[in-house]
Amino acid sequence: EPSLTAPDCVFCGIVAGEVPATVVASDERALAFRDIEPKAPLHVLVVPRDHHADVAQLAAADPELLAAMVGLAEQVASDESGGQFRLVFNTGPTAGQSVFHVHGHVIGGTGLGWSPA
Ligand code: 5GP
Ligand code: ZN
Repeated sequence: EPSLTAPDCVFCGIVAGEVPATVVASDERALAFRDIEPKAPLHVLVVPRDHHADVAQLAAADPELLAAMVGLAEQVASDESGGQFRLVFNTGPTAGQSVFHVHGHVIGGTGLGWSPA
């Protein structure tokens, strides 16, 4: 049972099991599920069960929880992309954040290029 939730937050809804999602991994503090609109062969979102708005606020409030999210991302990548992955935290609307419950995009698969924008 998460201690921090926000009303009308879609990812709190997924954590609570009220919004359907394809969960691929989870532990006591975090959950990993497939992005509804995947942009790579592997595109999974890792979220903490507790609601925090973005990665900066999470790092300040609960750095161990951020570390747990990275661990879950590594586990997903280990299962699905040979342990290699890109982990992206869009932070703020200008940077592309559209859901204000912190989530790491775990992106992997063959031949990812790189462009910062
Ligand atoms: P952001 O733009 O905030 O960095 O990323 C939000 C991500 O959440 C997007 O990639 C979007 O496709 C995904 N997303 C939004 N709503 C849902 C949903 O209800 N279920 C799932 N599985 N993914 C969602
Ligand atoms: Zn939330």
